[in-house]
Amino acid sequence: MNNTPLVHLENLKKYFRVKEGWGRVKYIRAVESVPLDIQAGETVGLVGESGCGKTTLGRTILRLYEPTAGKIFFKGTDITHADMLPLRRKMQIIFQDPSSSLNPRMTVGEIVGEPLDIHMLASSRGERKDRIEALLARVGLNSEQANRYPHEFSGGQQQRIGIARALAVEPEFIVCDEPVSALDVSIQSQIVNMLEDMQAELGLTYLFIAHDISVVRHISRRIAVMYLGCLVELAESYELYKTPLHPYTTSLLQAVPIPDPDLTRSRKRDILEGEIPSPMDSPPGCRFNTLCPAAEKRCAEAAPELREAAPGHHVACHLFGG
Ligand code: SF4
Repeated sequence: MNNTPLVHLENLKKYFRVKEGWGRVKYIRAVESVPLDIQAGETVGLVGESGCGKTTLGRTILRLYEPTAGKIFFKGTDITHADMLPLRRKMQIIFQDPSSSLNPRMTVGEIVGEPLDIHMLASSRGERKDRIEALLARVGLNSEQANRYPHEFSGGQQQRIGIARALAVEPEFIVCDEPVSALDVSIQSQIVNMLEDMQAELGLTYLFIAHDISVVRHISRRIAVMYLGCLVELAESYELYKTPLHPYTTSLLQAVPIPDPDLTRSRKRDILEGEIPSPMDSPPGCRFNTLCPAAEKRCAEAAPELREAAPGHHVACHLFGG
């Protein structure tokens, strides 16, 4: 049996250089030494609040941003500095905002057909047309809609077009970057169900990014939690919900609304007080120490490492030997 993960990250870092006045330079430490394995055919949910580095991590894995340090492996091959054109076929992205990710001057057929042209995946005009129609059918659109423009579609339909474009090159790995957060709740489950069906049918592997932990719960086999650029917890989805270890994960779960008002009242809540620090001025030691209700003196002195606290359950916190 081949246990090589499809995607393997070794302490991946992405810093952005920002110029300040008087020639001073600062760095936004958007992704800080992230280790992660993603097995073929699984979905790993990546959650955390806006600005925590989730999107930057997803884009750095695809080398849409060049990593500052660390390594990216795809199917056991180090691709940190590789030519990405052939790999773009295998590694795709579905963007958060479908309206801004689709070229308004191109028809839907041109949008979905463009990757086929770039990677020369159709040997004739007839084959190209057939493939575009099959891709549109796969996401629930019809062949007549190929001649229309993105603005003629609803948000949910636009996201279906984005998904058809990602599927055109027959990828193995897709970064789903908050693919449903811009959509109505009623449409969200349709898109998530469609992504799950496609995964079962085509054997796809997803990194599914969301700021709402309840969105990733059902689609993800494992969930990774990010805070200020750091991976703070990683566990099976069920395990993370049942026994969260990191105080930040606990606070995220406590913020998920429960439909039962009695249960909401009885649930103990640790409200986090204060603002999340900027990734440009992140605190020393554990980055969560300025908000953590369990912080100790050592938390401001040394950063905890991500460690396996229970089988398959990793956490970066001094309370668990980190
Ligand atoms: Fe809280 Fe300290 Fe654990 Fe960080 S290391 S999460 S500050 S207890």
